[in-house]
Amino acid sequence: MIERLRHGLHRRRHPLRYAQLDTLLHTQALPRDALLAKQQRDLTDMVAFAAAHTPYYAETLTPFLDRDSLDISTLPILRKDDVIRRLDDLLSQTADRSQAKIGHTGGSTGKPLAFWYDDAKHELMRAGMMRSYMLAGWRPGQKILNFWGARQDVVPGGVFGAQIGDFIAAEHTLAAFEYTEAQLVEWACFIQRYRPVLLQGYASVLAEVARVVIEKRLPMPATLIGIYSTAEVLNGWQRRRMEQAFGCKVYNQYGCREIPNIACECSHGNMHVFTDMVALESVRTGDEDRLIVTSLTNRLMPMIRYDIGDSGRLLDSECACGLPFPLMEMDLCRQNDLIRTRSGKTIHPSYFNRLLYGKTEIAQYQWVQRDPGRLALNLVAPRPPDAATLAFLEAHIRQDVDPQMVLEVNCLNEIPRTVSGKHRFVIGLGAERCGHEEPPRSE
Ligand SMILES: [Zn+2]
Repeated sequence: MIERLRHGLHRRRHPLRYAQLDTLLHTQALPRDALLAKQQRDLTDMVAFAAAHTPYYAETLTPFLDRDSLDISTLPILRKDDVIRRLDDLLSQTADRSQAKIGHTGGSTGKPLAFWYDDAKHELMRAGMMRSYMLAGWRPGQKILNFWGARQDVVPGGVFGAQIGDFIAAEHTLAAFEYTEAQLVEWACFIQRYRPVLLQGYASVLAEVARVVIEKRLPMPATLIGIYSTAEVLNGWQRRRMEQAFGCKVYNQYGCREIPNIACECSHGNMHVFTDMVALESVRTGDEDRLIVTSLTNRLMPMIRYDIGDSGRLLDSECACGLPFPLMEMDLCRQNDLIRTRSGKTIHPSYFNRLLYGKTEIAQYQWVQRDPGRLALNLVAPRPPDAATLAFLEAHIRQDVDPQMVLEVNCLNEIPRTVSGKHRFVIGLGAERCGHEEPPRSE
C-alpha cells in the first residue's frame, strides 16, 4: 500500500523519468531482430546528428557519411584525451547552454575527465537504472539503499538529485567513501532498520559490509531481493560473500558516468547489453579485447566509439531468461585498491579520484601508499601542481584520511602499468584482504 502510494507520488514528481522507463520497457519487449534493426537506425541517426551539430564530429565523421550503409567499425575512436582536449567541441550546437552542466569522473583508468550532462540525460540514466533493478523483481516504490563513494552524489543537488533520502524517493544514500570497522557495523544495523529491497554500491564496500554481517552474525531483513554492484570489478569471492551475508542474488551492472546503463546481469547470471541505449564493440588491440561504446541516446554530447578503458567480449550464446538483449563478459580490469590508515580507517579509491576532479591538465595519476603514514601522488602533467593545489590536497588528506599522513607528490614522464597492462589509480598496502584478483585468505 505504502509502496503504491510512493510510486504514484514519485511518478508525478518525475514524469519524464517514468515516460522513459515505459519506453525502455516497451523496447525490451521487442524481439531480437526488431531490436537490432532499431539499434542500427539509432546509430545511423546519431552519427548523422553528431556530424551535423558538433564541431568535433563535423571534423572527424564527415568523410564517412557518403557511404551507402554505415559500418561503425570504420569510424574513428573517441579517446579520453579527445574528450579532455575537445570538451567544448563535443557539446551539440542544438544544446541549451544554460541547461548544460559539467560532470566529473575520476575514470577507471586514472584520468580525470569532464563531460556535459543535463536533466534529460540524468532522468534517462535513472530510468535505465530502474529497468535494471526490475530484473531482480524490484518494483517502483520499493526501497533502495545506496553505498556511493562520491560525495557529490549524496549532497542535495548532486548527480542523484536533491530528493535522495526522502520518503517519496524510497531511496537512501550512505556516503561510503570512507569507513572504519565500527562504521561497517553501523551500516549493517542501518540495513536492519531501513529494510530495503535492494542494496546498491561498490563491490569493495558491499563486500566489507557483508564481512561484518557474517562475522557478527547480524540477521539481514527478508525484504532484500537483490544486491547491485556498480562502478568496480566484481570478483567471485565478493559475490559469494555478499550472497551469503544478504541472502539474495548479486547483480553486476556495467556503465560509467559518461555513458551509463551499458549492461546489467539478469537473474540467470548473464550480462545483457542494453542495445536500445548503446552500441558496444569489442576491438582486439594487442593481447586485449578493448570495449568501445557508442551512446545511442546522448544528443547533448554525442559519444561515438568511446574507448571506455575496459576490456571484455561480446558473446554469441543465448540466455534462457527471455531478455532480447545480447550477452557480454567483462575482464577483471578496473583495478583499484583501498587505503588503510594507522587509526584503522579504510578509504575507498573514489575519494582520491574525487580530489583531482576538474584537474584535467593531469594526463595520468596514481596514488600509492608507501607505508602506513606515507602517501605518494604520482602525476604525469605538463607542469607540477601549483602551491594552492598542493595546499588543497594536503589539507584534505590531513582532514579526511589521517592527520599524520605525509603526502609526497612526484611528477613523472610515465606511470608504469601492471602486469596485465592496466593502470591502477590507487595502490594500497593491504592488498591481501582487498586485492581484486585473489580471494581473501579468510574464506
Ligand atoms: Zn538473461
